Amino acid sequence: MVKPTRHIASINDLSKTEITGIFDLAQTYLDTLHDPILPYRVARSCDAASGAVLATLFYEPSTRTRLSFESAMLRMGGRVISSADSGASSAAKGESLADTVRVVSNYADVIVVRHPRDGAARLAADYCSVPVINGGDGSHEHPTQTLCDLFTLNKRNSSFKNLNVAISGDLRGSRTIHSLVYALARFGANIILMPAKGLELPSHVFNRLRDEMHCRMTPAQSENGHASIDALYVTANAPHQLSLIPEGVDIHVRMTSRVDAVYVTRFQKERSGGKIENTYPTVNAEFLSDAKYSNASVMHPLPRVGELDQSMDTDKRATYFEQAAYGVPIRMALISALLGLQNNHLLKSYDGGFPSSKALSIDQHLDAGIQCQNANCIVHDTLEQPYVRSKFSLISSVPERSKLRCVYCETDIEHFVVGNVETRKFTANVAQINAATSRQLKQFVFFKDDQAALARDYRSGDPLNAGR
Ligand SMILES: [Zn+2]
Repeated sequence: MVKPTRHIASINDLSKTEITGIFDLAQTYLDTLHDPILPYRVARSCDAASGAVLATLFYEPSTRTRLSFESAMLRMGGRVISSADSGASSAAKGESLADTVRVVSNYADVIVVRHPRDGAARLAADYCSVPVINGGDGSHEHPTQTLCDLFTLNKRNSSFKNLNVAISGDLRGSRTIHSLVYALARFGANIILMPAKGLELPSHVFNRLRDEMHCRMTPAQSENGHASIDALYVTANAPHQLSLIPEGVDIHVRMTSRVDAVYVTRFQKERSGGKIENTYPTVNAEFLSDAKYSNASVMHPLPRVGELDQSMDTDKRATYFEQAAYGVPIRMALISALLGLQNNHLLKSYDGGFPSSKALSIDQHLDAGIQCQNANCIVHDTLEQPYVRSKFSLISSVPERSKLRCVYCETDIEHFVVGNVETRKFTANVAQINAATSRQLKQFVFFKDDQAALARDYRSGDPLNAGR
């Protein structure tokens, strides 16, 4: 049997074992190709990817991500093709991403996609015969940045387990943070959220950490009299101002006594309409003078725009330039694994990810009923609409806690009804479909509410029984 092509649209497409395998491979590249003065920098080339071609399709401006992918491929002796600006070429001519990747997959062995819409990488993967790597899609995820971040943390600490990682800034619009918190939770690190006011983690990300990655919440402790970003995270009306702690970890003492890493992010102006609700938190020497930060690695995905003081650059805790340098060996390792360049590191089967989903898949025409409610989801892009469907996973059918998750952007919908196209009955009690036969499962149509179902001539009742 031919194994399906492996794509990396989310950090959750990789199992923990695969992630540590990528770290091992990145370290091997570093060991053999590093700069003699700067050991975290790849300074020489090899021929591991000789003959292979990487294409970058970037519909959004990028310098670091694009150049680090290109550098990674060139350091392995491969070649790179890229459109000067995909946003100004294909899309401007009215060509969809779906068509573009189908064409470009004839020219390259692996494609990196960056796109302003959430879920664009998953759509590209649906239409691509070679591996697609998500180079950042809207506010959804940026998995290769997270691999760099984790690799950096892994180099500086003996284990992720019980590591205390504080995350400061725009947690709402930063796709980097969404990938990072999932990975940290899966590896058992403690996450201390320090969002700018109004820029907390999106509720679907927060709920997923709580409900599916076994994080429990502990209100963070206030810092009396300390005019720092710590003061922002304990407020009665902002339920996200909490710490996320994997089950079984007693964090209270640790959290106040030691922070192992402070991860700083910039305000994602382009994804927030340019408005900022409050003074944005700044990390500087004064903030880091608290004893609990004395050994904390200071990290930042870069670029910075004022939230991380330049005076920190000479501080021994500053890790961000080293973190950026690891982008090359990590991307070398990921490309290697996807293309099977090293026999012992191969991501060819699709058995990775978290966890292998047993959720019911829903796949219906975009106009049949419910649509993703995230306005920035790729399903709402007019160019892509002929190529997308309303695709969801039924994460929970428990009454009052039912949940549909968009397959593209992974935003959840918590209120919906289900109808049966044959009986023309619908119900909000989604648990009823658990009694359905496999034939009946194909008859279900999901609607956003009663009114939407009634408008399509469905009547309230038991969808499995035409008589009731
Ligand atoms: Zn969506």
